[in-house]
Amino acid sequence: MSTQSLAGSGPDQYPSEFPGQQQEPPGWTHVMNPVPDHGEQSYVGSGRLSGLRALITGGDSGIGRAVAIAYAREGADVVLAYLPEEQSDADETVAVVAATGRRVVTVPGDLTSHEACLELAERAASELGGLDILVNNAGFQMARSPGIGDVSPGQLDRTVRTNFYALFWLTQAVIPHLARGACIINNSSIQAYDPSVSLLDYAATKAAINNFTVNLAAELGPKGIRVNAVAPGPIWTPLQPATQPEEKVEKFGQDTPLGRAGQPAEVAPAFVFLASPSEASYVSGTVLGVTGGKPVF
Ligand code: NAD
Ligand code: MG
Repeated sequence: MSTQSLAGSGPDQYPSEFPGQQQEPPGWTHVMNPVPDHGEQSYVGSGRLSGLRALITGGDSGIGRAVAIAYAREGADVVLAYLPEEQSDADETVAVVAATGRRVVTVPGDLTSHEACLELAERAASELGGLDILVNNAGFQMARSPGIGDVSPGQLDRTVRTNFYALFWLTQAVIPHLARGACIINNSSIQAYDPSVSLLDYAATKAAINNFTVNLAAELGPKGIRVNAVAPGPIWTPLQPATQPEEKVEKFGQDTPLGRAGQPAEVAPAFVFLASPSEASYVSGTVLGVTGGKPVF
């Protein structure tokens, strides 16, 4: 299969198999074949997030990049957080977002430290003059460990710190900046419901995120702050060739009812809906599946 353009609409618009490929974490967009569709050519905004201010972790690539593009085209200013080694991916995202005329600020850093989470929250709020939307999207997985005995202490630490500690710390630090009407959206996974043996540690963090989402929604509801999550199925992003074995990459997503992996552009609209103060005004404490048909219950 050669590099191809990903554009169109409908269930069959995207590939259902991929050329074998491998990267090392965190993974980069430009070496992917095909390069994912983040909605660069397709997403059309209609002012649904006009004047809002969003902090998006992992905003350099994959789902985070698609969310950043969609949010900016809906009228939001955005802060993008990502790892320093992902600067080239962040630069590409910035170029597309900046073309909307909305403000985009980049804050590279490793969020597995508490201090980095505190600094990011303060910097984001001061750069944008406040915050209305927190998208906890950064995540790490390693799917090359066949069983529990193969999960090293370092892998477990990185997975839990990235997916749960960082999300918890950043949320704690951002809440003082949120007013009535603000919202928090966490990136969960189909793995919270239908865990793969090769993702034992990762799947557990995603189940924890679902529990955290519902519980925090109960706490923040009286303050007028909504808390939700999106649970994507298999989505074609740098995370996959950087963490899955090659044979899994080739067939990635074929085990869904729609028979293929999703693209980041197909997930971003769920984040737009949950962030929209008018459309999702009564939606809190829920997890919205974007799974290609796999059940999220
Ligand atoms: P991705 O690699 O494009 O994005 C993940 C991002 O997380 C990276 O770009 C990086 O900036 C950020 N990140 C990782 N470790 C970090 C750290 N220590 N400090 C700061 N940032 C860090 O891949 P993606 O698939 O778009 O992942 C985004 C989210 O979607 C993750 O939470 C992932 O678990 C979730 N998700 C992905 C899939 C999928 O199939 N791709 C499915 C379900 C859920
Ligand atoms: Mg990245």
